[in-house]
Amino acid sequence: MQCPKHKTVELKSHKVTGDLATQQCDTCTGIWIPAVEYEAWQPTQPTSTNKPNFISLDINFEPSEFDAKAGLCPECGSYLARARVNLSKPFYVERCSSCAGIWCDRGEWEILEKLELHTKIPQLFSSKWQAQMREVHQSQSERQMVINRLGGELANRLFELADTLEKHEHGSFAAAYIMRRFDKDRISIDSNSKAKPANPEANPSVLK
Ligand SMILES: [Zn+2]
Ligand SMILES: [Zn+2]
Repeated sequence: MQCPKHKTVELKSHKVTGDLATQQCDTCTGIWIPAVEYEAWQPTQPTSTNKPNFISLDINFEPSEFDAKAGLCPECGSYLARARVNLSKPFYVERCSSCAGIWCDRGEWEILEKLELHTKIPQLFSSKWQAQMREVHQSQSERQMVINRLGGELANRLFELADTLEKHEHGSFAAAYIMRRFDKDRISIDSNSKAKPANPEANPSVLK
């Protein structure tokens, strides 16, 4: 069996997380997990309830330089589908679209283990999970934009207030109050600019 990223390198038997039998590439240290091994190992593991909102975890992971390289399944030659995992630097887990074997580039398995996602890899490929992942990614980018514009201190006060209001039974009333404050400002600016031509000083003909 050859490495999907290094077609001339033969994979060697290797074990991860105790007794999960994988095949490792000596060149890139990526691992191939045959579907039959994963399916036997997975039910023996404690189930986690982790949801895809872990992007805030400050994990300093530098994806392998081979992560972006497309590969074919070392077992059946089919296309390897990719599932994005959002960290500050996102990476992709690969899985054979035909035999369901899994490929992890260097370090990816260890990160998945840390995130308690190593026991639910097939789920990462579901459209539901990927949609949730995009949502999380979007809200994190939005958060970052708020920090960039308001500065960390004020942004944190805003996040705290938003969290509190979100849990409060009259939270939406408070949000509407804030909105009205801004609406009022906008209306007074609008009416000021409209009022100007009616101002006698600005319109000398009124004085006559
Ligand atoms: Zn390799
Ligand atoms: Zn395959």
